[in-house]
Amino acid sequence: MRDRYAVVGNPVAHSKSPQIHAEFARATGQDLEYGRLEAPLDGFERTVAAFRSQGGKGLNVTVPFKEAAFRYCARVSERARKAQVVNTLVLSGPDVFGDTTDGVGLVNDLARNLHFDLKGKSLLLIGAGGAAQGVVQALLDAGVARLLIANRTVSRAQALAARHGVAACGYQELAGERFDVVVNATSAGLAGEAPKLPRSAFESAALAYEMVYGRDTPFLVQARAAGARASDGLGMLVEQAAESFLLWRGLRPDTRAILEQLRGG
Ligand code: NAP
Repeated sequence: MRDRYAVVGNPVAHSKSPQIHAEFARATGQDLEYGRLEAPLDGFERTVAAFRSQGGKGLNVTVPFKEAAFRYCARVSERARKAQVVNTLVLSGPDVFGDTTDGVGLVNDLARNLHFDLKGKSLLLIGAGGAAQGVVQALLDAGVARLLIANRTVSRAQALAARHGVAACGYQELAGERFDVVVNATSAGLAGEAPKLPRSAFESAALAYEMVYGRDTPFLVQARAAGARASDGLGMLVEQAAESFLLWRGLRPDTRAILEQLRGG
């Protein structure tokens, strides 16, 4: 039987992960299958347990289960422990191991695909949900000089910032602030909305990064109108997938071909 992997989430029908991992498997000559698992909102643990008992080797975890996945693991990586979220489960060992590859996925997309150097930069991270939690440590490790976290619900930003020793605020307090890069880790774009940022947030920004992908969100439109270079999160999706593949299969696939394929190139 071929080794089985899947992405678990709710909803999960839209996920591009099966296409990405199928291409990675083809390109690296790995014999595996990768599907989708829609878990009931109250059924993450039993869905994962059933997949594992049927011989499943690994799972990617997407909205809204990344925090539940962290709690489910017997062991987690150091970066997942700091983030308190897990997006990759390794099920092939004697116990369940969890890691988070979103942070390294974002940093790799910025460095490799967008050729943007984070070292010494001032960065505004918007959002404090699972996606934001997963990237803070990787951004700090990449040499960001200043990282400010802003969220609609300020208390969530404060809790996340406190874990990493950085600052947090609400959107109104951003008036007059300037950043080299603005990263939108909210899900506002999925609803056709943008976080209500003051225009000044983009004024000095060389890059505005939207984690949502596959649509021209109001955040991207605003950033371009303010003169910033703007990117969606498709590259992050592909790069985090490559890191999950590395954890499961011991080799890191090239990401260029699938990124071009997904962008319709
Ligand atoms: P989440 O845990 O549900 O958190 C949602 C975040 O968005 C919270 O900070 C929330 O603020 C904020 N938010 C939602 N609607 C908003 C609005 N209308 N205005 C302002 N803020 C709003 O979700 P998540 O796991 O962090 O994921 C966030 C997004 O990142 C999703 O769209 C996901 O698809 C994307 N993502 C992309 C990648 C990638 O590889 N490209 C990876 C991970 C995630 P409150 O705290 O105030 O509710």
